Amino acid sequence: MAVREILIHPDPRLRVKAKPVADPTAPEVRALVQDLADTMYDAPGVGLAATQIGVALRVAVTDLVWRNEEGVRDLHVWINPEILWRSEETTRYEEGCLSLPEIYEEVERPRRIRVRWQDLEGAVHEAEFEDFPAIALQHEFDHLEGRLFIDYLSPLKRRLITNKLKKRFKKRA
Ligand SMILES: [Zn+2]
Repeated sequence: MAVREILIHPDPRLRVKAKPVADPTAPEVRALVQDLADTMYDAPGVGLAATQIGVALRVAVTDLVWRNEEGVRDLHVWINPEILWRSEETTRYEEGCLSLPEIYEEVERPRRIRVRWQDLEGAVHEAEFEDFPAIALQHEFDHLEGRLFIDYLSPLKRRLITNKLKKRFKKRA
């Protein structure tokens, strides 16, 4: 169990495409999931992808409810997630990201998606999500492709945000 350092944009490791997990039941995967959960709850955030702690594996965790009800946690583990279908209907949400501290921008994405993923036992699941869960999952799975939510903004806006973060996190570089 460990809280890991979250990479901040424009760290080049956030742009690496993650590789599939060969064996979701491996102890290293369980340890990685534990670290992701610890780091997400510590931040705090509603989701964290392995890419964000510099591990290029297709693993992410989310907890979309725990902040709303005291003591309630709903940790979900996503191993090798794939978006099988996206609705044509879109919706707009103001998104934030632990790798882009204090940046919040509205992004348009499909309102519904169908997802296939594996759990820590290696079992395969498939389900449909809509609205906030669908948006949060698309955001997290984008990380595994090396994509950030600012990629959906105009190049000018993206540049302004990048410069802002570069200035703010200069000392860490
Ligand atoms: Zn993010």
